Amino acid sequence: MDLHGIGVGRGVAVGQVIRMPDPLPEPADSGHNGDAAAENARVREALAAVAADYQVRGEKAGGAARDVLEAAALMAQDPTLIDDVTSRIDSGTSGERAIFEAFTSFQEILIGMGGLMAERATDLGDVSQRIIANLRGVPAPGVPTSDAPFILVAADLAPADTALLDLGKVLALITRDGGPTSHTAILARSKSIPAIVGVTGALDLTDGTVVVADAATGSVRVSPTEAEIADARQRIADRAAIVAAPITDGVLADGTKIPLLANLGSPAEAASAVELGAEGVGLFRTEFLFLDAKTAPTVEEQREQYAALLSHFPGKKVVVRALDAGADKPLSFLNSAHEENPALGLRGLRALRASEQILRDQLTALAQADAETDAELWVMAPMVSDSEETEYFVSLGRQLGLKTVGVMAEVPSLAVLADQVLETADFVSIGTNDLTQYTLAADRMLGSVAHFQDPWHPAVLRLVKLIGDAGLASGKPVGICGEAAADPQLAVVLVGLGATTLSMTPAALADVRVELAKHTMEQARDLATQAVNARTAAGARRLGSRS
Ligand code: PEP
Ligand code: MG
Repeated sequence: MDLHGIGVGRGVAVGQVIRMPDPLPEPADSGHNGDAAAENARVREALAAVAADYQVRGEKAGGAARDVLEAAALMAQDPTLIDDVTSRIDSGTSGERAIFEAFTSFQEILIGMGGLMAERATDLGDVSQRIIANLRGVPAPGVPTSDAPFILVAADLAPADTALLDLGKVLALITRDGGPTSHTAILARSKSIPAIVGVTGALDLTDGTVVVADAATGSVRVSPTEAEIADARQRIADRAAIVAAPITDGVLADGTKIPLLANLGSPAEAASAVELGAEGVGLFRTEFLFLDAKTAPTVEEQREQYAALLSHFPGKKVVVRALDAGADKPLSFLNSAHEENPALGLRGLRALRASEQILRDQLTALAQADAETDAELWVMAPMVSDSEETEYFVSLGRQLGLKTVGVMAEVPSLAVLADQVLETADFVSIGTNDLTQYTLAADRMLGSVAHFQDPWHPAVLRLVKLIGDAGLASGKPVGICGEAAADPQLAVVLVGLGATTLSMTPAALADVRVELAKHTMEQARDLATQAVNARTAAGARRLGSRS
């Protein structure tokens, strides 16, 4: 039997399953003893204890885990939530029940918002479980331990779970919930653990069942045959060889250089990207720095972050994207209006243009950081539609002291008009995630249309080709920074369509490096021609993957 979900990374694992323990039962609706002040005090103590516990564990864990645990500590002290809990207790509800109700209603709001916000709902659930456990004087549901390595199965993983897990023992993660941007996926990527998220039926797996988890295909083979296990072990060995291969710059078999760059969301990720061989940064998502900010960050605050990033890459290219706020990544200081279709709304450059001072501050901070470091800074705007918007952004960037200014190709209109855009822009970087979403009219966060969200679709490839051709004609660089660049076979096709650099999550660099080295430019162009002439994504994948 096979279960299916969304694979994170390209790894394979074979092993026995262990499930996360079930959550605490829902607190009964029993009311407190009439002393609301005492009950409120008891709850405040529990909130403070849980927040402090997150802080301590965050400091111990360090790295990305520290950020998520600190965010959880903030949730436990959120004034809106505390007000809600207090008023429930004031009207007679017990502390446990008040926490449960307030957190559940907040979780529902986040789920209703969709996207990244919905994925944070799991974190909130974890915070409320820990507070309720503290109030009851029982241990919070623990993470499983085992002497032997295992494959962890869970509804979803919260930051506290992942910070406590002995990741050295975890061969793979399988979760019922969560999308490609959930904590499980982020953790799996950063630790290079194969993960399959959004797996219907995952919780029917019982402890001890052997499975083969294959992130490259997003499949879980339950109770595999001996032959299937042997095949999986061979693939694990092959991958280990790829990962252990010497790190070189990205280059085709004929010597054509294709720089391999990293997609990053914070300066803290830079050092490990460099270790994995990133030749620079192809996409720095600045909005990730300010997702929780209530007010726009100051020039000084930003300068510090950007200088910290640039200092890791002396002499190397670093492409920073201006704040891409809206839809799945709303920033409260840029996107305040309610929109029926936020993906088609005032987002990306449109939102920045409507709040131009925020854009000016960001570009100023970038120019200052550039002046004090030795990296080669390129800056680009997200969600640009045409040459008029390009001219606006490029001229503002130059006026504020930036040397190399470009645009992202995520909206199909920009691809169609790429020749006009490249008259002004210094470069174009193709965001295949959004370009696919808009070309196929399929919400990238929505499971029911996930099969349309396939960058192998010939319609997407033809748009990439339009941009590649315009890049070639103008002699200007065309990068790829969407997830498509992390698919080794598709990376070859994208180069054949005219991409001059590829940027991806650092964990994918090794696979892409190995695949590029197997093909000459002529072969890459030939595969690209076959793929653009296919009729479906599956057909393009078949034709474009032949070596
Ligand atoms: C993209 O759309 O492909 C992209 C790289 O930007 P993001 O995923 O941050 O929207
Ligand atoms: Mg995008």
